[in-house]
Amino acid sequence: MLQAHLPSRKDTYPKTMISLGALITIVFLAIGATVIGDISRRDYARAVTAAENVIATIDAEITRNFELYDLSLQGVVDGLRFPEIASVPAAMRQQLLFDRAASAKHLGSIFVLDRTGDLILDSRTATPQLTNHAEREYFQAAKNNTQGQMYLSAPWSTTDGDHLIAISRRLSDIDGSFRGVVVGTIRLSYFYGLLQKVKLGPDDRLRLARTDGTVIMRSPFDYNEIGSKLNAASSFQRMLKDDAGSFDQTSANDGVARLFVYRHVGTSPMIVSYAQALQSVYAGWWDQAFQLGSIVVLVSLMNIALIVFLSRALKRGAIAEHGLAAAAMTDGLTGLCNRRRFDEIYEETWRAAKITNRPIAVLMIDADFFKSYNDQFGHQVGDEALVAIAGCIRNGARREGDVAARYGGEEFIVLLADAGPEQAVEVGEKIRSLVLAQRALQHGRTDSTPTVSIGIAAIAANDSMDRKELIKAADLALYLAKNNGRNRCELSTGLRLVSSDAVRAAA
Ligand code: GH3
Ligand code: MG
Ligand code: MG
Repeated sequence: MLQAHLPSRKDTYPKTMISLGALITIVFLAIGATVIGDISRRDYARAVTAAENVIATIDAEITRNFELYDLSLQGVVDGLRFPEIASVPAAMRQQLLFDRAASAKHLGSIFVLDRTGDLILDSRTATPQLTNHAEREYFQAAKNNTQGQMYLSAPWSTTDGDHLIAISRRLSDIDGSFRGVVVGTIRLSYFYGLLQKVKLGPDDRLRLARTDGTVIMRSPFDYNEIGSKLNAASSFQRMLKDDAGSFDQTSANDGVARLFVYRHVGTSPMIVSYAQALQSVYAGWWDQAFQLGSIVVLVSLMNIALIVFLSRALKRGAIAEHGLAAAAMTDGLTGLCNRRRFDEIYEETWRAAKITNRPIAVLMIDADFFKSYNDQFGHQVGDEALVAIAGCIRNGARREGDVAARYGGEEFIVLLADAGPEQAVEVGEKIRSLVLAQRALQHGRTDSTPTVSIGIAAIAANDSMDRKELIKAADLALYLAKNNGRNRCELSTGLRLVSSDAVRAAA
């Protein structure tokens, strides 16, 4: 049965709020994540740039010194082209061939080997000891190098404890035939001093290696690695591809992920690489990400809390509003619809019935001799009786779409949509018998619930009667029911009055 029904809007506000809040939170978190991501990329780019600057400086330093040193070697090569040089006194020859570069701090000696590898000239002494170097790498490599390029040897240590590398050049006759090799040595302390200047983090590595993977120097210093060959599968392979570049790789040895920035040194067959532990690259980022992340999460939580609070408040407001609206439509005493609400529903139902071409019935229900009941037992008891009658009406008109209302005083009205006269009489009789059943339960008490008289009016779908006339007809039928002795139903079809007995008989 339809009572003070209201379309429910109480859920729509909070749902919109929650969606909006969720959207704001998601956008906020996304912005936070983007900013944190940007900071991480910025820190990474800064680390790459810083490393590039360091290795560019090392590259420039080594390149400049190698160029100078190679010029000294070239000077020897060029000087030996003069046949007269052999007849010059030894001391003068030393002076002519070996310039001051050879006496610089980290440079060893410059010496000349003949085509058999025998030492014939040495920058350190005018009377070199006879030694043969034919088996040495710097001799063999320079001998086979007819293009005249400088050769860079792997590190080795001398009997007097020097750690050296050598650069060598081939000496050729005018016809291009092999005449010998000129060699210059460089102390590894030079590279040590150079790499040591760079302050490194605990897991950072700075390395200088030949392009074949032979380590010349590394920082932090590790004696065992000097002269060893880097693993073919190591990060080193990736450095051969381009002249300079950067990449991330996790070390198979110590499991540390590092950012590698590398550069080939000038035209020399050497690569300088700077590997920074990613942990130190992102050290600052972690702090910032934590701070910013905390703020983002905190604000998001506050946003969620605010939304929950607001949506609850809105929901409460909506429920209150809904309650007020419902109260405005309900009869305070009986809980049935009040007359205003009934009128609205009646109008809507009437219109719908006309469009869909369905019948409609109205029951007008009035308590019998209620004035004297009231006078006898008092207004309070009268009210209780009205509530009891309302209960019977509610139970008698239970169909979906049935509407019961208090029409005024001790008078009730029931609207039956889609119901013809037989169904309407059936409902009327049901209500009347429910009241009687109630009375029976009260065992003949003098204040037992008063009986009701019911006037029924029903119109067929195509009836031309208007809706006020239908209520009037029900009123007339009620009047008839009172006149015919009360506690009974009377039916009016149209404005013609017919006794419900006649309808029952016809059915
Ligand atoms: P009839 O059988 O012809 O309907 O006689 P009646 O006495 O019921 O009719 P009448 O119209 O003379 O009296 C209606 C009475 O209903 C008058 C009033 O005291 C009482 N009444 C109306 N509204 C209320 C109400 O809300 N509470 C109570 N207790 N009584 C009411
Ligand atoms: Mg009455
Ligand atoms: Mg009355």
